[in-house]
Amino acid sequence: MTVNKLLVKLFRFKGLRVLDMSFRGLWNISITVKPNKNGCRCPECGRRGKILCFLECRRWRDLTMCGWTVWLEFCPREIRCPTHGRLMEEIPWAEQYSHVTYRFEYAMLRYCQVMTQKAAAKLLGISPSTLSDLLHRTITRIRKGHRIRGLKTVGVDEISYAKGHKYATLVYDLDRSCVVWVGQGKGRETIDRFFNEALSPYQKKNIRWASCDMSEAYIGAIKEHCPNATLVLDRFHVVKALNAAVDDVRKEQWRNAGVKERKLLKGMRWLLYRHSSTRSRKDTRALRALEKGNNRIYKAWRMKDEFEQFWEYKYPGAADRFLRSWTKSVMRSRLESMKKFVCTLRSHYDDILAFVGSRLTNAIAEGLNRIVKIVKNRASGFRTLDAFTDMIFLTVGDVDIPAQIPSKFRVC
Ligand SMILES: [Zn+2]
Repeated sequence: MTVNKLLVKLFRFKGLRVLDMSFRGLWNISITVKPNKNGCRCPECGRRGKILCFLECRRWRDLTMCGWTVWLEFCPREIRCPTHGRLMEEIPWAEQYSHVTYRFEYAMLRYCQVMTQKAAAKLLGISPSTLSDLLHRTITRIRKGHRIRGLKTVGVDEISYAKGHKYATLVYDLDRSCVVWVGQGKGRETIDRFFNEALSPYQKKNIRWASCDMSEAYIGAIKEHCPNATLVLDRFHVVKALNAAVDDVRKEQWRNAGVKERKLLKGMRWLLYRHSSTRSRKDTRALRALEKGNNRIYKAWRMKDEFEQFWEYKYPGAADRFLRSWTKSVMRSRLESMKKFVCTLRSHYDDILAFVGSRLTNAIAEGLNRIVKIVKNRASGFRTLDAFTDMIFLTVGDVDIPAQIPSKFRVC
């Protein structure tokens, strides 16, 4: 086997020609290659074009091999394609204006999915700022021209991406469990922007189900833009609001309690949040003690516990009857925060009841949200939303970004 043949095999340069190889400086290998054995091809249509002139020599960074950084060198030529006119010939190993090979891009994308950009930069031997530029350019290129398709079940949620109450709105496709859109802010104008810019009128009509939290902005936008969608308020957000109401009762009692009573209330917070299915015997004993010790908290907790039944109903009629009697009994109590919760519940009555027929929750969205939060924490926050958006699309986006790199270069 000649050296050239070995290099062709080693670097998967099938169809290319290796002209020269040299060791340069400290740990650098330069390989001079030529795209086609003869002639030049148009990058748009693949047809052979007439060579007009030689352009400046360029080099592309490839992956490191046994500690040696590999560089590909080549002087591309300008050609004239009968259809596309004057342009630079096709470079099979890299994107037209990139300084790195597809192989390098693929390794970078794969590394960034599972580790911090800093760690990925170290492994690849480039500086973190270069990597973040490169990553942004690669992801933007791959996502360019991509349209949202087949959106039927939509979920909307918010996430904070930097200190100082900086929020972004994430829109999910709950059928395919992926993020389809990211926008700055969490208000009405943000979600309006999604419906106006990312979806066509036909697509908006095609949305059948929508799930979101109790934010007025999201509910209003979904009701306005999706005429055929049934809105289901997310179960977990409803439970969260109810838990907060119970906690308010606890806090109020804590403030007014004496030393002796505080001893009893200590450690109650998480116990009150707990779902009945995960309650232990010890918890039940503590709750029974609470009944005698502090009746107001116990009452609030009882109401919360009864409300759990609602999620088990299979028939909307029965669920409706239950909800009516439950709200009535809460309104008779003298617990202000619980009454406030019932007011919220009444204002979204139909959207909460819709859960019984659909069983739709934002659980998938919450799961994706958790992955997004891991990405955020791994990077210790993002200064700009752009960088965060890149990472969201790379990890849970609607396109598998690394899979878009030409298959023969997908090695790392
Ligand atoms: Zn062409």
